[in-house]
Amino acid sequence: MHLRLKMLLGVLVLIIAAMIMLPRMFSNEVEAPEEDPVAQEPVEEPEDQEFMDTYLFTTDYLNMRTGPGTEHEKIRTIPVGEKVHAIGYEDGWYLIEYNGQTGYSIGDYLSELLEEGEESPDSPEIEAPEETQEEDETGVTMKKIDGILLVNKTYGLPSDYYPDVDPEAKDKVDEMIRAARDEINMEIIAFSGFRSYNYQKKLYNSSVETDGEEYAQRYSAKPGHSEHQTGLAFDLGGQMKYWLEPEFADTEEGIWLAENAHRFGFILRYPEGKEHITGYAYEPWHFRYVGEDHARSIYEEKLTLEEYLLGE
Ligand SMILES: [Zn+2]
Repeated sequence: MHLRLKMLLGVLVLIIAAMIMLPRMFSNEVEAPEEDPVAQEPVEEPEDQEFMDTYLFTTDYLNMRTGPGTEHEKIRTIPVGEKVHAIGYEDGWYLIEYNGQTGYSIGDYLSELLEEGEESPDSPEIEAPEETQEEDETGVTMKKIDGILLVNKTYGLPSDYYPDVDPEAKDKVDEMIRAARDEINMEIIAFSGFRSYNYQKKLYNSSVETDGEEYAQRYSAKPGHSEHQTGLAFDLGGQMKYWLEPEFADTEEGIWLAENAHRFGFILRYPEGKEHITGYAYEPWHFRYVGEDHARSIYEEKLTLEEYLLGE
């Protein structure tokens, strides 16, 4: 009995020793060849580090995500034709900064150029008039009253009027976004600002194609007639929900903006029930910078910009 027990124990010890030793021997053999490709990888790394930051334009609505892949959570959507600051690149994904947010976007819809050349040949050469109102042979009328640029279906901007986003308006929209954060703990996003004449032309044509001329006229401006070309207008939204939808008016962010935008010099440009005056359907997301004094008067007197400037 003792002998059999000893033998059994001996066998057990051997088995245990084998169980411990064998995987180690085995793994040593397996690990060795794997080290080579691993060792080679760092050679490719510097490519990422060599990336020079640059500015790119979105060629379609583009998602910004928390990581370089569609499995990562979406931070926000960036509209078409927006300028983003690319600060890194890996595997087809750019690390970008846009409107104070940082995240990853796929490179397929980012271009180094805002495609503007294609429309140039047929767009007439127009000199930006300096007078308050001037009509040239192409019918473009630029109207400025009390220093306020009025852009609507009647008064437009020349195709070469390209002021980019107004720095003062941009500062004010940023201040308003911070105030919303402080006062109602909501994150408001300025998802569309300055738009060039040519970019607006694209938007309008695509709206006509998708929804027809009648719809396009209510919701989209013809090139030269978008307030976004002034660099003074912004489309604002909350966290993902109801962007460019009338329902935005009933969200906490939409209500706060309607009641407070004037404090920062902005007016709700296309109010409800004023379509016959402004020419546009209710847009609770579109805000126009006119400065605090004008904005307060317009807000308190419940006027449209047309009524305020033209006394209509
Ligand atoms: Zn707008």
